[in-house]
Amino acid sequence: MNTTSTTPTAFARDAYPYLRHNADRAYLDSAATSQRPDAVLAAEDAFARTEYAAVHRGSSMATGEATWAFEGARERIARFVGAGEREIVFAENATDALNVIALGLSDAATFGAPHLALGPGDEIVVTEAEHHANLIPWQRLARRTGATLRAVPVDERGLWSVDDLAAIVSERTRLVAFAHVSNVTGYIAPVADVVQIAGEAGALTVLDACQSAPHLPLDLGALGVDFAAFSSHKMLGPTGIGALYGRAELLDQLPPARTGGSTITTVTIDDAQFLPAPQRFEAGTQPVTQAVGFGAAAEYLSEIGMERVRAHEAEMAGQLVDAVAAVPGVELVGPEVGAERAGLVSFVVDGVHAHDVGQFLDDRGITVRTGHHCAQPLHRRLGVAATTRASAYVYTSADDVARFAAALAEVRTFFGADR
Ligand code: PMP
Repeated sequence: MNTTSTTPTAFARDAYPYLRHNADRAYLDSAATSQRPDAVLAAEDAFARTEYAAVHRGSSMATGEATWAFEGARERIARFVGAGEREIVFAENATDALNVIALGLSDAATFGAPHLALGPGDEIVVTEAEHHANLIPWQRLARRTGATLRAVPVDERGLWSVDDLAAIVSERTRLVAFAHVSNVTGYIAPVADVVQIAGEAGALTVLDACQSAPHLPLDLGALGVDFAAFSSHKMLGPTGIGALYGRAELLDQLPPARTGGSTITTVTIDDAQFLPAPQRFEAGTQPVTQAVGFGAAAEYLSEIGMERVRAHEAEMAGQLVDAVAAVPGVELVGPEVGAERAGLVSFVVDGVHAHDVGQFLDDRGITVRTGHHCAQPLHRRLGVAATTRASAYVYTSADDVARFAAALAEVRTFFGADR
């Protein structure tokens, strides 16, 4: 099946039905979810109309074709992130993938992987900047196993340092879980350093790649992380599907969090033997159409080239930062002006609640995100309940940012906060 018949033109807003339909609005909320290009929607549509069937079941021609498309999608996604095909497991989203790792590890002692089991005296290290999706599963794993959860602190800008992480990681550390890119600050973590520190301590690494896979060239194999998670809907694909990455030999040992049809070799009334990864994790009927869309999105981004995507977003990030820094009484969160950051900018407007800022911008046709962005510990450290976030993607234009800049310049006056 040919999912992308024409080579995508980078930054072509007119390739996106949502952006065509909402031509009078600036969509600056791609860190929450991204818009899908025609090519991805067409791939989903074509598959659903002409090839849809259950995968990995039975021996019909229909199943064979659908399985071929499903596995083809896996292959594209694996290639996109520098993984082997057996190292990509389909999950509902990144949140689900992270839970699958944590739940699997919590079963390790009783499910044939005692060397992966955690217990009292063991430590799990996260950072204070984590999205709740990469925090709560580890809280639960710690409770279930008696291990201790420790957090690398963030400073008043919401940033953590490798030195602080190195000071917390010890021979007691069994796992280090951290975001490649913070969804609040746009900070890009020094993954190689963390992998080295964790490796020297004999700890596993889990990379939350939710905000990096869509935006940066990513080679998980070369980075050397043990596990990673990312979502299709943040990288031009549909909702309802994401990926769990794991090094093949680890995935074959990790107990499957969910069990049932399609995961097994033999089943008796008392016991079951499981297939190797990825099948051992993909229980039940799979979201095949979504997988095809996810694969088409990875292919679409690959054809544009992730170096180009990153270069464009770095440019947009610079413009967003300038827009925020130019307004008196508006404080930037995260890396300083000029420092490297991903294509998103969060900020606090002195004297105006983030929700009012969001409403004001929305009324002027600018979609941003307000709230704690599922990172309450980080916001607690910043001393605010909520921030406003503007985020860019491959289709974001300088016009979008200019419109945002013009509106932001008026927000404090509108609410009488500059008097
Ligand atoms: N981690 C990060 C850094 C995120 O930005 C998000 C989405 N906001 C998630 C995890 C969770 O992603 P999803 O909701 O797609 O599972």
